Amino acid sequence: MKTVAFHTLGCKVNQVETEQIKDELISNGYQVIDFSQPADLYIINTCTVTHVSDRKSRAVIRRALKNNPEATVVVTGCMAELEAEKIAEMKGVNYVVGNRDKHRIAQIIDSGNKGNKDTLIIREPIDSRESLAPVFCHNHHERTRAFVKIQDGCQSFCTYCIVPYTRGPVRSKEPEDVVQEIKQLVNLGYREVVLTGIHTGQYGRSMPGWSLDRLLEKILESVPGDYRIRLSSIELGEISDRLIELMQNESRLCRHLHIPLQSGSDAVLRRMRRHYSREEYRSRVLEIAGLVPGIGLVADVMVGFPGETEGDFDFTVELIQNLPLLDLHVFKYSPRPGTPAASFPEQVEQKIKAERSKVLLDIARQKHKAFIEGLIGQNLTVLVEECHSGKCNGFSDNYINIEFSSPHDMCGLFVEVVLEGVYRNRAVASF
Ligand code: SF4
Repeated sequence: MKTVAFHTLGCKVNQVETEQIKDELISNGYQVIDFSQPADLYIINTCTVTHVSDRKSRAVIRRALKNNPEATVVVTGCMAELEAEKIAEMKGVNYVVGNRDKHRIAQIIDSGNKGNKDTLIIREPIDSRESLAPVFCHNHHERTRAFVKIQDGCQSFCTYCIVPYTRGPVRSKEPEDVVQEIKQLVNLGYREVVLTGIHTGQYGRSMPGWSLDRLLEKILESVPGDYRIRLSSIELGEISDRLIELMQNESRLCRHLHIPLQSGSDAVLRRMRRHYSREEYRSRVLEIAGLVPGIGLVADVMVGFPGETEGDFDFTVELIQNLPLLDLHVFKYSPRPGTPAASFPEQVEQKIKAERSKVLLDIARQKHKAFIEGLIGQNLTVLVEECHSGKCNGFSDNYINIEFSSPHDMCGLFVEVVLEGVYRNRAVASF
């Protein structure tokens, strides 16, 4: 049996795409082995979002070449998109496949069109009129949560972000294909489906009459069964009233929104080319929290964007302190060559970025604890992901990781629990 080993860097979409490539290769007779083993085929799905991701991607490619110098090596992902020629110069790399064609990797390898001396670069321009290829699910999965990519690309061009240059314009998967994919996953036993994309709120942008809300309505109408839908991150301005209504009335739609904030300073938001103000963020988030009680709201925040002063940072801290957030994802700004912000003046020192990041991470811990304590005594439905030594854990619909005692293995089941408190930063419940 031929063997294949994978390494994925970067975002959730990359991880979902690796799973799809894996699925195809298993169906073509490959056995998946650990990346540290000598494999016949290595697939490296790269990321280029910061210069650190570039460095890591290169290191992983070198590791594959060292593990088995005779192997076929395929490099795909965002770095393959931006730096195909440079990667092709690495001796031993056989294929460099851009993001548009990565879903065809199994087919490309099978066609035997291997670059023996010269590396084969497959990188086609991406057209916004294309829709995403449907995915057929095979029976190789064992988990409770599945990810469905509904959308790719972004054309917002935030000044710190390279993604619009690597992922191309917004394209969406046909609604019928999304429904079919979810039906297959639910039939395979998945109980939670996360809709992902690069800019998920732009779903349907190039498909007249379609939007994320309409897609959700269609899924909820057309897919019967005991499952729930979760959304990956969504921009503030793309959260429609209809989406909030669906969250209020549909128990199958998780009460969970991940809304990037990035900064609480209007001046910084303008330089980032983000299209909202701190006041708009504050009022919409407070409105949503009032309309959907218990909703788990998560924000991304970036510290140390060029020119971020102490005053700007104080605005961010003040805004976050006063919002009912479940969690914060904190990032230190890192200049990405090729983006406008990389050449902005007044780059912030690493030491200051680290200090600001620490302040926000401390606030995040306090807010997480306070959020859970505010729900003590409530009933929550947990989708159980793990059980051992008499303890089970999983996530509630509002994205709280909850642990409870049970003598039974309840993996893959929805279990109603009563929230009791927080112990060592984890929510505990009785069942
Ligand atoms: S919305 Fe902004 S941060 Fe998000 S992928 Fe697009 S350009 Fe990057």
